[in-house]
Amino acid sequence: MTAPRPLIAGNWKMNGLRASLVEAAAIAEGAAGCAARVAICPPAVLIHLMSELLAGTEVLVGGQDAHWEDAGAFTGDVSARMLADAGAKLVILGHSERRSGWGETDAMVARKVQAALRAGLEPIVCVGEMLEQRNAGQAAPIVTEQVRGSLPAELAGRPFCVAYEPVWAIGTGLTPSIAEIEEMHRAVRATLGEKFGPAAEAVPILYGGSVKPGNAAEILHAAEVGGALVGGASLKAADFLAIVRAL
Ligand code: PEP
Repeated sequence: MTAPRPLIAGNWKMNGLRASLVEAAAIAEGAAGCAARVAICPPAVLIHLMSELLAGTEVLVGGQDAHWEDAGAFTGDVSARMLADAGAKLVILGHSERRSGWGETDAMVARKVQAALRAGLEPIVCVGEMLEQRNAGQAAPIVTEQVRGSLPAELAGRPFCVAYEPVWAIGTGLTPSIAEIEEMHRAVRATLGEKFGPAAEAVPILYGGSVKPGNAAEILHAAEVGGALVGGASLKAADFLAIVRAL
């Protein structure tokens, strides 16, 4: 089976104003012809403008979260259908900042994934252990459980990615060793195999957590790493492009 094309996705989190679209334009210009698929996930209010700006380029636009319903009385929420209507092609779901800050459970994430599929979006489903869990030797069982619970059966045959993001590595400058990353990605791959059979080989497993220009090459070339989900270093085109080109 051919290896999936890696994805490098930037998660802008709650950062960026319309003026930041110049960074997106610079990313699109610099990413032309690169080996990876490249995506930027800006705040929801920038998705429409960014999609129009990047139309005709190779850079995809994604959302950072979506509700599990398509529409309804959910003040302040955005549905997957709305993201797709605004031009998004992908959506990050189950990010640890949603799990810890908003109490999202695996079951909620699975419903969001179903909504993303209904809307024709490619989900990037995030999993990852907390530091106490890793220190207690529970990293692999916790992440395995998250993969089992967050990925609904409807994903079979549909494009999606899993992002392994150790919570303690997000925004901290800390990263696991390459051996630890490979061990966790193998655990995710094995769980995907249990769920989806041989087709699971084609699912890119991204690494996320303090990926920077200085460590990107080593991480992106590790076994079972099929790309990266990049937070802080995706906000500046020069840094993000250095990561994209590290592949
Ligand atoms: C993230 O938020 O998904 C992330 C990986 O952040 P950072 O790269 O800043 O650690």
